[in-house]
Amino acid sequence: MRVVIIGPPGAGKGTQAKRLAERFGLSHLSSGDILRTQKSSGSELGKKLRTYIDAGALVPDEVVVAIMAGAIAAQAKDGLLLDGFPRTLAQAQALDRQLEQLCLPLELVLVVDVPDEAVVERIVGRRSCPKCKRPYHVKYLRPRNDGRCDDCGLELQQRSDDTEETVKKRLAAYHAQTAPVIEYYTGAGRAPVVKVDGRGSPDEVTARLFEVLGAQAQRKRRGQATEVTARD
Ligand code: AMP
Repeated sequence: MRVVIIGPPGAGKGTQAKRLAERFGLSHLSSGDILRTQKSSGSELGKKLRTYIDAGALVPDEVVVAIMAGAIAAQAKDGLLLDGFPRTLAQAQALDRQLEQLCLPLELVLVVDVPDEAVVERIVGRRSCPKCKRPYHVKYLRPRNDGRCDDCGLELQQRSDDTEETVKKRLAAYHAQTAPVIEYYTGAGRAPVVKVDGRGSPDEVTARLFEVLGAQAQRKRRGQATEVTARD
C-alpha cells in the first residue's frame, strides 16, 4: 500500500506512523526526520535547513521534493507510509507526478484530526530518543525510567522547534498550506481520504487507524484476488 498521513503538528503522526508501518509492513518515510538528519549533518544544506526548521517555517518545496524523491523511488514498490509529506499543493502535485511515472498510485490519505487547543500541550511535552527516535510525552506517553528511552536507555531529548512560540507558527503554516492538500485529494477524487479522530490516548488513536488501514488492506487483497480470478 502507498499511504499518506496528514495532520497538524502534534497530532501524533510520528508515533502513529511508526506503529502503522510496523503493523502493515510499510516503509515509514518522515520528511521531518529526514530533514532533521540533514540539518544535524553539518553540511551547507543542513545549515540552510536549520534556518527554516528552527523558525517553524516550511522548507522550500523544491528542496523537500528533491530530498523525498530519492527515498520514495527506493521504497514505493514495497509499500510506503509518507508522514509530513506532501505538505503543500506543489509537493502533492510533484508526488502525484512521481507516483504516476512509477505506475504506483497513492491508495489512501489518512487525516488525523486534532483541534488547535490540544496541539500546544501535546507538542511542548514531546520528547524522543536521540538514537532510535522512539517518541514519548511527559504526560501522555511516559518512559518506564524518568527521562530515559525504554529501548536504548539514552536520555530523551526535546526538539528545538517544539516551543510554544514555534508551534503557533507551525500551526499557521498547517492551516494555510497543508489543509488545501486535503482538499486537493478529496476534490478530484485523486485518492480516498479518511479522517480519523486524533483525540484520546495514543492507543485509542492507533486502534482507529488500524481499523481504517486494515479495511483498505482487505479491499486491496480482494481486488487482487478478483484480478487473478478474472485472468484465470
Ligand atoms: P515535522 O517533524 O513533520 O513536524 O517537521 C518539522 C519541520 O520540518 C517543519 O516545521 C518544517 O520546517 C520541516 N518540514 C518537514 N516536512 C516538510 C515538508 N514536507 N515541507 C516543508 N517543510 C517540512
